[in-house]
Amino acid sequence: MHHHLDASAVARALSPDEPVILNRRHAAARAARFFATKFPGKSLYAVKANPSPELLPILWDGGITHYDVASIAEVRLVRGVLPEATLCFMHPVKTASAIREAYFVHGVRTFSLDTREELAKIVAATADEQGNPAADLRLCVRLRVSSEYSELSLASKFGIDLVDAGPLLQETRQVADWLGLCFHVGSQAMTPFAYVQALERVRAAIADAGVVIDMIDVGGGFPSVYPGMEPPPLEDYFAIIHRHFEALPIAYNAELWCEPGRALSAEYNSLIVKVEKRRGKELYINDGAYGALYDAAHVGWRFPVKVLNADRADTLEDFAFYGPTCDDADFMEGPFQLPADIASGDYIEIGMLGAYGAAMRTAFNGFGQGASVIVEDEPMASLYTGERKDPRVSDNVVSLR
Ligand SMILES: *Cc1c(COP(=O)(O)O)cnc(C)c1O
Repeated sequence: MHHHLDASAVARALSPDEPVILNRRHAAARAARFFATKFPGKSLYAVKANPSPELLPILWDGGITHYDVASIAEVRLVRGVLPEATLCFMHPVKTASAIREAYFVHGVRTFSLDTREELAKIVAATADEQGNPAADLRLCVRLRVSSEYSELSLASKFGIDLVDAGPLLQETRQVADWLGLCFHVGSQAMTPFAYVQALERVRAAIADAGVVIDMIDVGGGFPSVYPGMEPPPLEDYFAIIHRHFEALPIAYNAELWCEPGRALSAEYNSLIVKVEKRRGKELYINDGAYGALYDAAHVGWRFPVKVLNADRADTLEDFAFYGPTCDDADFMEGPFQLPADIASGDYIEIGMLGAYGAAMRTAFNGFGQGASVIVEDEPMASLYTGERKDPRVSDNVVSLR
């Protein structure tokens, strides 16, 4: 993969007609080291946020040894790239064949569940040929918690309700060598209080069940930085989680886990797009709802933007984007603040697309191609640099911590 200094150098060198993904290896490595050294427990990378086979070894080298996988394809992918990684199959609804292959072929021992049916499925799929149950299962009961402090809810689909958790925990304890409780507060949790509230529910579930708990997994939800979304420092999240974890009625050697997806991958990618047409305050660009800008279109997410042509005006105005497909829904309202005189043929860098950006690209309508290159400059925003960048007059370039 080719190396360049920054996005401007890429646009100058390639004048690309297709969107170009920029990989910032140093930013992903820094995020991994941060979690590996500062989270007071084990950090699992949630692979779905960005399953790039180039990213996985960077995180591994940064100290991330455990991976949260949700499908047999993710199990195979991570096992292929990282033969020594510990894989945890944390989707509460799996097929029996996926469980069997994960357990017998790829050495997976940790599985999550939120129903008795899934528990029975896991036990049956991991039994040996004589029908003897596996003695080394590490099972994690997923509890439903509130998503009220997060930008993207994960509260309605998975997780057993607190009122029903006691019996499921007791039943799981009987077949599990090691029993955990997990939850997910929703993605981009803007305050550490989200975890406090969830851990209170965990406490109630443990009290109800009266079983020994070996592990608490606080899931993902750790935020990144976007225009209009500047979260408190991650250290605050870690400290508050640790304090509330320590106060739980669990085994003295119980482990604390987390499953960051967004926080480990957001800074890894940005994207160069080309303006194909301007219509008033609307720019027609060559990536969109079916490309890396899925969240910009579908949930109105705002990403930082900057024009790469040096000669554009300093005055910024609000723009909306249309993506390249023929679908009216391929529209991103933004607002995205760009120079007032931006014109077709200009290149724009769109930042912070490492999480749920690069991973979302489809080939719909014949788009979705495009190269990837490595760049050496800093991402448009970072939770990990401990510096502040000049935010200019807009919030497009988010201040650095
Ligand atoms: C998506 C997901 C994650 C990662 O969530 P982020 O908000 O990206 O940190 C972690 N755990 C599970 C079970 C998930 O489904």
